[in-house]
This record gives sequence, structure tokens and C-alpha cells, in this order.
Amino acid sequence: MTTTFPARSYDFTAVGPARNLIGGEWRDPAAPGEKLDILNPRFGKAMSTVTLSGKADLDAAVKAGLAAFPAWREWPIRERAQVLYRLRELMVKNLDELSWLVSHENGKTFGESKAEVEKGIECVEYGCALPNIASGNQLEVSRGVACELVYEPLGVVAGITPFNFPMMVPLWMLPQALVGGNAFILKPSERVPLSTQRLGDLLAESGLPKGIFNIVQGGREIVEAICDHPGIKAVGFVGSTKVAKAVYGRASFEGKRALCLGGAKNHLVVVPDADVELTAENVVASFTGCAGQRCMAASVLLAVGKVDHILEKVREKAAKIVLGKDLGPVTTQAAKARITGYIDAAEKQGAKIVLDGRKGQAEAGGYWVGPTIIDHAKADMPAAREEIFGPVLTVVRVDTLEQALEIENSNPYGNASSVYTSSGDIAKRVMDRVEAGMCGVNVGVPVPREPFGFGGWNDSCFGHGNITGWDGYRFWTRQRKITSKWAVQKDQTWMS
Ligand code: NAD
Repeated sequence: MTTTFPARSYDFTAVGPARNLIGGEWRDPAAPGEKLDILNPRFGKAMSTVTLSGKADLDAAVKAGLAAFPAWREWPIRERAQVLYRLRELMVKNLDELSWLVSHENGKTFGESKAEVEKGIECVEYGCALPNIASGNQLEVSRGVACELVYEPLGVVAGITPFNFPMMVPLWMLPQALVGGNAFILKPSERVPLSTQRLGDLLAESGLPKGIFNIVQGGREIVEAICDHPGIKAVGFVGSTKVAKAVYGRASFEGKRALCLGGAKNHLVVVPDADVELTAENVVASFTGCAGQRCMAASVLLAVGKVDHILEKVREKAAKIVLGKDLGPVTTQAAKARITGYIDAAEKQGAKIVLDGRKGQAEAGGYWVGPTIIDHAKADMPAAREEIFGPVLTVVRVDTLEQALEIENSNPYGNASSVYTSSGDIAKRVMDRVEAGMCGVNVGVPVPREPFGFGGWNDSCFGHGNITGWDGYRFWTRQRKITSKWAVQKDQTWMS
């Protein structure tokens, strides 16, 4: 059992080190690797530490999973789902504590953290509903012959998660994997390992048997060991494209199932007939929310034709954002340097910085960048093509919808895309053509709510299907088809 997180405000709060959870016990790594600070990005100060684990720790987690799996898979699905019902109750009861913990280790505001935990709860609710959704099919396929489809667990499976949603992204995977009957090993981001640690406690309190949920703290070495370990049957990954592609390749090569979600460069198409207030409100929320550190954040605004009246409103609203209150810090000093580097470069290349957050600072020592708008950017500038992952909107001006679609579809990513218009025809033309898996009409962050599955296209996703919803259950289970016959039929067919 770890301790509950005591803070109920942004006041700096230090806690004990992050540990591994193996076979129901909190442990330090067997052969401790590098010790890293867990920074509270608001202050740039260490609130805890994490020691990187090695292969022996992963091996111990796999052994614990393998030992616990046979009994767990025997639990009827309804009983496994009951654990998630209890987890949901505990998450609701401890919503404030969990939200403050996410806020401290990730940096996002309390409101954004609460929204993250609530979305995590929604994913848990999907898991609770699985016994009602996941019934197989049975059909008399020939006289006296029945075919039945059952979903079975894979065994020990693993998830690797990023820094930007420490509580929600693990919950994209866990409900389906656990209700599906697997044992799970989580390797959280070494920057934010504390939220998943609390999740480990809450799952234990919910009655999950020891060894069914294990946590191995670590970095690249553990990720590669997960890909290679013969005892692990499937890998879910969420993070940057470079790593997603590498993990997908390595895990697949080892014969594992892999579904690896990568980075993004999301485009918003704004046309002159768009509602000014709705568009401005939405665009600002999309590019500044969670300090732009969302794979669904707006990144490029494709301004089609005469839309200056809308762009001015976007600027006006973004300028009113109060750093520290409405907008949190970015994750590290390196992230701040990367983000401001993109803004500097765009300026040098001739773009106009119409709102400049480079000098924003809410708390001494923290990693702050204020809302920034880069206007008159060229479509081939790095700020318009690469993932910046900060509160920065790059505006590219075009004359026609066709040009907007061309720019959008030439980008290798394919996570999200939105159009702002009051014309159903324009909305449909964009929705029909755009190369993105999650699209919005007058919605800046078109995250599909459960039960609709979350997952992008192209370089934003390697592997097949979505990670949440029904696809998630299919990913973490395998189908067995049983064909049976109990008596010799008098009127036999070829199949009998
Ligand atoms: P990251 O790729 O740096 O890290 C993700 C995970 O991979 C972490 O657990 C980390 O320890 C591990 N890792 C990092 N480098 C590695 C390497 N070289 N080899 C093996 N493992 C490695 O990503 P991040 O900075 O934590 O998160 C931000 C990224 O995640 C952004 O690109 C964002 O768009 C993306 N993201 C995508 C989605 C989505 O659904 N598509 C959701 C959230 C975040």
C-alpha cells in the first residue's frame, strides 16, 4: 500500500519514491538502475524519485502474472467486472485526491486533471458493461451442428504509457484487458509514475487478485524487454510516433500482438461562414488545454479565405488566459526549449507571432509557455508540419478548401481533424476527404466518448483498430470457435 496523496491545492508537496508492484507487493528494483527526479513542472522541483528497473524486475512481474493468471481466467466475466465496479466507486470517492495527484506530477490544472480522471472513470464504466456487450454468438450452422464463439484471454499482457495522461491512458487499456481475463504489466512514463501507483492501490482495494496488475517502473530498457519477453502476449503502447513505430516493429517481430498509438499534428479548417463565438471559444480551448500537450490538441489552423474576424476573436480570447490558473506548465525544461525553438524558427522564417507566450512565467522555476499564435506561416515550415506539443497555434492561410485539404492530407500524421462551418455541405466535404481517424464538426477536440473507440490513422497509429471500446476488448482477447454435435443426424448434410 502506498500513501494517499495529501495535497488539496497547488502548494508544492513532496511524497515518497515510486516503486514497482509485483505479485501484490510494493518493491524496489532488484538491481537498481538510474534514479530520476519526478518533477512537479509548476515549480520545476522534485516531488519524488523513481529508480529505473531492469530486466530481472520485468521477469519477476511476468512470473507473478503467469502464476496468478490461471485462477483469474476461471473467474466468470461478471465477477471480473465486479472488480471494476468497485474501482469506479473508489475513483469517484477519491476524485479530488486523484486529480490533485495528476495535477502535481503532470502539471495540468486541477480542472483539467479532474476531467482526465473522470474520463478514466468513463473507461472503467465501459469495462463494467463488458459482460453485457461481450457475449459471443451461437448458431446452428447445420442440422444438429452448433457453432459458438467465445472470447478468451491471451495471458500476460503489457501496456506502455506516456506522460501526458498519467491516469487516463492506462485506463484506456486496463478495463478491457482485465475483464477479458488477462494479467497486466504496466510500464508508466518515468516522468509520471505516481498516479498509476495509486491505481495499483485502488485495484487491490477493489479485490483484484495479487499478480493480476503489476507495475514495472523504468525507461527504454524495460520497453524493449517487454517487446522481447516470450511470456508477454500483447503490447499496447501510447506515446510519440518514433517510439510507437519502433515498439510496433519489435513486438510484432517477436510474434506479439501490438497496437501502438503515436503522435499527432491536428488541423482545424476554418471557413468564412463559421460561427465566430463558437469557433473562437473552441479553437482556444483546443490549442491551450493541457498546455497543448494532448495528442488531440489543435496545432494548425487552416484559414480558408477571409476569416480575419474569426482569427482576431481567437487571439482576443487566448490573450485573456491566465498562466498558472487557466493554463498549466509544460512537462520539462527540454519541452519548453523545444516549443520556444519552434516559435523562434517560425519567426525567423517570416511568420508573424501575433500572440507571444515565450516569456510567460507563473511560478519561479517552473516550465511555463503562454498561449502563442504564429500567423502567416508557410505550410512547409517545421511549426506547421511537426508536432510541437505545446500551447501553440500555427495559422496557415489558404484561398480554397481544396488547398486546405491538400495541406492537411500531405501531413504524415492522422489523429484528429476538425472543420468550423455553418454549412453541412462543407462539413461533409471535409469529413469525406480528410486523412484522420477522429474528426470534429465545430468541435476542437473530437475525442470519441465511450463506447466509440479511440484511435488515429497513418503515422498516429501502428497496428489495427482502436485502443478503447469494443476494438480494445478484441485486441486483448482471442476468439475461439467451437463447433459441436451431440447426436447422429438422420438427415445428414456434408457438414454433419
Ligand atoms: P514518449 O514516446 O517519449 O514515451 C512514451 C513511453 O515510451 C514512455 O513510457 C517512455 O518511457 C517510453 N520511451 C521513451 N523513449 C523510448 C525509447 N527510445 N525506446 C523505448 N521506449 C521509450 O512519449 P511522451 O513524451 O511520454 O508522450 C508524448 C507523446 O505521446 C506525443 O507524441 C503525443 O502525441 C503522444 N500521445 C499520443 C496519444 C494517442 O492516442 N495517439 C495519446 C497520448 C500521447
